[in-house]
Amino acid sequence: MASSAPSGHLTVPLAKRRRIAVLTSGGDAPGMNGVVRAVIRMSIHCKCEAYAIHEGYEGLVQGGDLIRRMHWEDVRGWLSRGGTLIGSARCKSFMQRAGRLQAARNMVIRGIDALIVCGGDGSLTGADVFRSEWPGLLDELVQNGDLTANQVAPYKTLNIVGLVGSIDNDMSTTDATIGCYSSLHRICEAVDEVFDTAASHQRGFVIEVMGRHCGWLALMSAISTGADWLFIPEMPPRDGWEDDILKLDTRVTVLGHTQRGGAACAYDRWLATLQGTEAVRAVLEATPDSPSPIITIRENKIERGSLIEAVEATKRVAKCVDEKGFEEAMQLRDSEFKAYHRAYINTTTPHHPKMLLAPEKRMRIAIIHVGAPAGGMNPATRAAVAYCIARGHTPVAIYNGFPGLCRHHADKPLGSVREVDWLESDSWVNEGGSEIGTNRGLPSEDMPTTAHCFELYKFDALFIIGGFEAFTAASQLRQARKDYASLRIPIVVLPATISNNVPGTEYSLGSDTCLNTLVNFCDVIRQSASSSRRRVFVIETQGGRSGYIAVMAGLAVGAYAVYIPEEGIDIKMLARDIEYLRHNFATDRGASHAGKVILRNEKASGTYTTQVIADMIKEEAKGRFESRAAVPGHFQQGGKPSPMDRIRALRLALRCIQHLESFAGRSGEEIAADEMSSVVIGIRGSEVVFGPMSGEDGLEATDTDWEHRRPRNEFWMKLRHLVDTLSGRPADSKEGKFQLSDDEGWESGGTSDPCHFAATPKIRPRELPLR
Ligand code: ADP
Repeated sequence: MASSAPSGHLTVPLAKRRRIAVLTSGGDAPGMNGVVRAVIRMSIHCKCEAYAIHEGYEGLVQGGDLIRRMHWEDVRGWLSRGGTLIGSARCKSFMQRAGRLQAARNMVIRGIDALIVCGGDGSLTGADVFRSEWPGLLDELVQNGDLTANQVAPYKTLNIVGLVGSIDNDMSTTDATIGCYSSLHRICEAVDEVFDTAASHQRGFVIEVMGRHCGWLALMSAISTGADWLFIPEMPPRDGWEDDILKLDTRVTVLGHTQRGGAACAYDRWLATLQGTEAVRAVLEATPDSPSPIITIRENKIERGSLIEAVEATKRVAKCVDEKGFEEAMQLRDSEFKAYHRAYINTTTPHHPKMLLAPEKRMRIAIIHVGAPAGGMNPATRAAVAYCIARGHTPVAIYNGFPGLCRHHADKPLGSVREVDWLESDSWVNEGGSEIGTNRGLPSEDMPTTAHCFELYKFDALFIIGGFEAFTAASQLRQARKDYASLRIPIVVLPATISNNVPGTEYSLGSDTCLNTLVNFCDVIRQSASSSRRRVFVIETQGGRSGYIAVMAGLAVGAYAVYIPEEGIDIKMLARDIEYLRHNFATDRGASHAGKVILRNEKASGTYTTQVIADMIKEEAKGRFESRAAVPGHFQQGGKPSPMDRIRALRLALRCIQHLESFAGRSGEEIAADEMSSVVIGIRGSEVVFGPMSGEDGLEATDTDWEHRRPRNEFWMKLRHLVDTLSGRPADSKEGKFQLSDDEGWESGGTSDPCHFAATPKIRPRELPLR
């Protein structure tokens, strides 16, 4: 019997509730708890029964108490916990058919018909073997007399979905595995600190990082920390490398298991959340013939791929490395890995005779920061400088934005326009803020002087790093080209703002740094409530008129509600949320002592300020719980940029300079007539793209909400409902009922179909970009 969902929506047979089990296997990875939480809650939301299998495949083989029914509250607070709370193990018996036979028996007995496995390539290989043997295992169980034909009949098809949880990032077909960025965080924090002592003593440090067959962690940490040498399995050093280093006084540091531990970073938390919910969707949408999927991510897009193909491709790379087929191994790594490797090489030693351009193709490239500081501005500038020098261009920094340019360009001895050399910029790799100074001022404040400076300093191209003001500045310069010949040069904007509100991209440098800072803030503040237990924190986020930061942080910390400018706040919404909180505290079974978090964007409402909301909650709670307002303010800009902001800064900055140099030798008129001469670089879906500012289809005309200073189409709005779904917040103020606090206690929530958003194409997260 199908549910009474509206046509076009996914229907879940209510007569036989699906039983979905999740296990974590192999090496533990930060983010695994986020996966379990998302799978459990999404399964319950979709009216399925949720199970956790403890100790990986061992739990499946042994059965009994290791297979446990899970309820909504059981996973409360799990997003912020490191390791895996349902345990992981290396299970020898599952490697044997006899073990897998036992596992199949346990699944049938417990009525589990879908298995979501989160682990590395070994675990997913095991999942694939189990899936392929499943019909044979059932036959054998019947032949042995262990089970009857009737007992196995409903379980003819086993749905298995793979999620890659591994710090190594060694799975082919996905850009990132759950856990790899958290591990990269640990490594970068450690290396940044080692760097301080290395610099103090003029010593070289050789730092060993994890990664097994895969050099991703080593490569990305080398990029993020500006390492001088890199040794990865895919590309061992040439003979004689020892001669380059031995003259150095060196020390060896092995980071070891610290790389696996700790709470997950923001990226891994929301990746785990989105992929976990996507895995449940994949289970519910599977047909008997559909191949087992693996949930992957390409740039910002969650996708489903083939589990078998991913496992096979991963094995091929490992085999190549073992057999010293290094070129092939490099070929088989995804294109992003190769691009990063090339970018690292290009920017580490800036003197490459082969990279030098012919003199007539060399340009004077001006670099400017516009808007508020954002993590990643410095590494992007450093990368641009290094690449420019390698190509023979002259990188010129404009200090303190457009106002700096106009006011101080002629100052002696140091004006606001200075050529940058490699040594000067080398240490900017892990610095937060803006070393060349950033300013919100726009060129329109003094366009004649701006144009005059461009002429005086003979800029051939302009690289702008910044947020919405950077975008506005590029637009103004583009439009002023008709009046000033000196502005007829190519311009590219690299979005860098914590608000992530620049048209043309789904990701801005600095937004990841901000999210990590905010997530840490929420974790700490939540923890502070553990003695009183009954406390709600209303935390104010930055983000201007874009709710991006609030929503993504909401997903990463498991916020109860997010209030964003795109939706505003009204009295009904507040009343419903307070009622829900009351209900929630009344039924709280004490799974976690931490406080609850509501995130409110700074511009969500002029009337319902953060303090007002906190006071209203306190008043209405009538002593049953309390509430506090907290405003992290500029703390959200973060200290050092996050590893993701550092590595993306490198990759995107290089692409920007490559784009600018493609205009070398063209006349000003030609450049002004070419729409691609003023562009924004962006990550959109699964691609890195340049979006033209001008023209009928250009970003200014089609994707810019000038009044609210944000893109017209904010991709993340489609993720917004997931925050509510996973916190159980009532979906519709009119229906007013609580969605659920447990699967037993399901009280029909705001929608008639519990999986409504899973099956509505408009808001399917797998079509959505993320970060
Ligand atoms: P990871 O998943 O981190 O790569 P392992 O390679 O140790 O870790 O695999 C974890 C577990 O997955 C193993 O202990 C085993 O139970 C199971 N497994 C791995 N490979 C296979 C296989 N070829 N067949 C069946 N099970 C496997």
